[in-house]
Parts: sequence; structure tokens; C-alpha cells
Amino acid sequence: MTHRPILDTADQTPAPPRPNSTNGSRPRSPRPEAVDLDGAQRPVDLQAAERAAADFLTALGVDLDREGRQATPARMASAYAELFATEPFRLTTFPNDEGYDELVLARAVPFRTLCEHHMMLFSGVAHVGYLPGDRILGLSKLARLVGHFAARPQTQERLTMQVAKCLDENLRPSGVGVVLEAEHTCMTQRGVRALGATTVTSALLGTLRSDPRSRAEFFALAGVPTSPS
Ligand code: ZN
Repeated sequence: MTHRPILDTADQTPAPPRPNSTNGSRPRSPRPEAVDLDGAQRPVDLQAAERAAADFLTALGVDLDREGRQATPARMASAYAELFATEPFRLTTFPNDEGYDELVLARAVPFRTLCEHHMMLFSGVAHVGYLPGDRILGLSKLARLVGHFAARPQTQERLTMQVAKCLDENLRPSGVGVVLEAEHTCMTQRGVRALGATTVTSALLGTLRSDPRSRAEFFALAGVPTSPS
């Protein structure tokens, strides 16, 4: 399966200005720094969503008067609202005082989101890694980052790129690697019904893109059998 990263620039987290580096090295920054990633979500009108869900289901021939279904539109509205709920969080970075320069990898981070084409669930695992530069990241933030960008209708390609670019822009590591393996219910439960098929996407930046050895190490540690590059 080919995968061309598609960037939705309007959906990008604003990046801080690039540090000046006339000599190629990045300036050292003081103690913990944090970038606030807010949800950037539109307000949710649950009542309007409930009315729309009732209309939608009725239009599809679902009898909402049957016992057990009266509250279905309300439950459906809040279920979808929950899938889109995102909590603002701070991407906190710390100075890399020990000069750690090996791969940092969060492996098999589970995620789920909705494909924006069918509004059906797709879910799987993300492997998110970076080669540190001058700063390192709080470890839980790698997993939080995936959840943050998954809390909106997505394409797998864009989700992959958004996680990678956000890390690159806010942490300025020497390399970033993101691999997503996911099952799309719009593909496995309908249409071609390709049960068990998974889609793999990857985004590699910096050294992890340019250096074959680093790239191979990343894919090996992530447990991705063949390099999707
Ligand atoms: Zn789909």
C-alpha cells in the first residue's frame, strides 16, 4: 500500500520560531520549556447533534420508537462527542544534560480515531521515536501527542505526519520517526471487507530519514518487519 503524507496546514499546531543557528548548532535553552497544545476544537452542540442523529437514523429506516432505542440519538451524539474530545496539554521539554543521543521510542501506543471519509472508526498502534538534540521530552508526552491528534476526524497519513511534525517543530530533535499500523473499519467491515488488513504509514524526518542505519534501527526497535520507506 502506498502512502503519501497529506498535510492539512490549517490543522497544524503553530510552531515556535526556529532557533537561529549560524554555526549549525542549536542554542541551549534554559530549564523546562512547555508548549501548550490546545484542542482547537469547535464547540459541541450536543442537542443539535442528538436531533441530527435522530434524523439520520430515521432517514436510514431505523425505527427509534422501539424499546431500547429512544435514547439512542442522545447516546450516539455523546459517543461521537467523546471520540472528538481532546484535553489541552503541555508538551514539556527538558535540557538534554546527559547528552543522550540514542533513540527514544514509545512502542505500540494504542490509538483510535474516525476516518474523515466515512466517520467510521480506525484504530491501531503508533510507534513514535526521536533522536534527541539539545532537549528531551517527558516520556508520557509521546503517547499523549498521538491521542491529541487522534481526537478529530483524520486520515491515517495526516495523523502520522502531524505527530512527526509537531515533535520536530517543538523539540527540534536530530531525527523523528513515526509509524502507524491501523485497521480501518470502513475497509474491514464494509466495502471490500478486507478482514484483518492493516494499513501502515510512516513519517521520517531528519537523521532518521537520511541515515539508513538509524532508520533501520528505528524500524527494528519499533518491530515493523519491513521498512515501509
Ligand atoms: Zn474510511
